[in-house]
Amino acid sequence: MEEYDGPIDVEVARLVDMEESRQSSQLNLVASENYSSPAVRRYEGCIFADKNAEGYPGERYVSGCGYADQLEELAVERAKSAFGCEHANVQSMSATIANFAIMNELFKTGDKLMAMRLQDGGHLSHGAPFHASGRRFRWCFYGVSRANEQLDYDNVRSVALENRPAAIICGGSAYPRLLDYEKMHEIAREVGALLWVDLAHTAGLVVGRVVPSPFPYADIATTSTHKTLRGPRGGGLVLCKEILAKRIDRAIFPGLQSAPKMDMIASRAVLLSEVQTECFQEYAKEVLRNAKALERGLLDEGVHLVSGGTSSHLLLLNLSKSNTSGLDVEQALLEADVVSNKNPVPFDTLPPSKSGGLRIGSAALTTRGFEEEQCFELGVLVGLVVASGCAPSKVADLKSFVRDNTKGLPLFNPRWMA
Ligand SMILES: *Cc1c(COP(=O)(O)O)cnc(C)c1O
Repeated sequence: MEEYDGPIDVEVARLVDMEESRQSSQLNLVASENYSSPAVRRYEGCIFADKNAEGYPGERYVSGCGYADQLEELAVERAKSAFGCEHANVQSMSATIANFAIMNELFKTGDKLMAMRLQDGGHLSHGAPFHASGRRFRWCFYGVSRANEQLDYDNVRSVALENRPAAIICGGSAYPRLLDYEKMHEIAREVGALLWVDLAHTAGLVVGRVVPSPFPYADIATTSTHKTLRGPRGGGLVLCKEILAKRIDRAIFPGLQSAPKMDMIASRAVLLSEVQTECFQEYAKEVLRNAKALERGLLDEGVHLVSGGTSSHLLLLNLSKSNTSGLDVEQALLEADVVSNKNPVPFDTLPPSKSGGLRIGSAALTTRGFEEEQCFELGVLVGLVVASGCAPSKVADLKSFVRDNTKGLPLFNPRWMA
């Protein structure tokens, strides 16, 4: 690889250094973040960054794409084998963009689509009124039941029957439970809708074989690469049945994007090999184990968890009965060097800027090497902060735990080097 030893931009370098020490000294509980391996990140910004390989392998709009073709074919093959699907597209710049590109290609303006309500854990690219998807199509939403805050499949079915959507999208960004893809598939078939699974959060758990795969039920699955899949930010994958392959490829290019970012594809090819190792399966298991340990710690302190707990890497704390808001707790945790995010909860009465909930996850923590015992203790300490209404003494206890448990700990634990 090309080495660089010329002058450095001191302003940018300073910020990079500061960010590095921030990441090292803080504990990352953001459910949508992770740390990618040095092997994967090494190829972000490699020589392929300058190659304009507009088009697809074998049909590019510029010459000199021989190696780019081989690289993209390799990434596609690895994606298909990792997810066990018939076709893969690796060109999308993000899952959000992939989602809109697909809607744009497969459906007409005003078509009716169906997804999980944002407040119940859905995603903005699934028809939020302030997102392009929400403006372009008509939407109907399903959600969780008040009784147990879990997805109500009777509600899914009745909304589907009433609206006859062209597609049913499932998968969200703040739903702690797994989805029953078989049941969703049955409902989709009953109303003649495509079943589209947005795997952004759980892709790594699927590939790591610790939760069920959406295939063969899903017609299409989309995912980001930087959550449980443990890649760098950016980069979306589209996985689909062969019958949709041509339309999906056309949706991404030329439907919405121009040339792909080939250095990103190089890095994702490495990632897609890494996630097929036994070491990654161990990692995925540990992510679930650690989420359960956090759950136990929080429940011990009486914290209300949406849906009663978690079946994935993600937990959503419902603070509505605890006299605090998501914003308050997010800020208190940050004082203790714990990074998280406020998040709406089902039936929230607070505006999103405050939010009645806090979302956390175990993926980044696990990459760092945290184990079950530590996660339990962390859950207890976070629980005490919540239960005390963010009392300074509880925040201080959490802060000293973070200091003791992150000192000298690399971001990507060597234990996970495949
Ligand atoms: C995070 C997320 C996305 C967005 O992924 P990006 O790659 O960041 O655009 C899309 N859908 C769901 C359900 C998500 O959770």
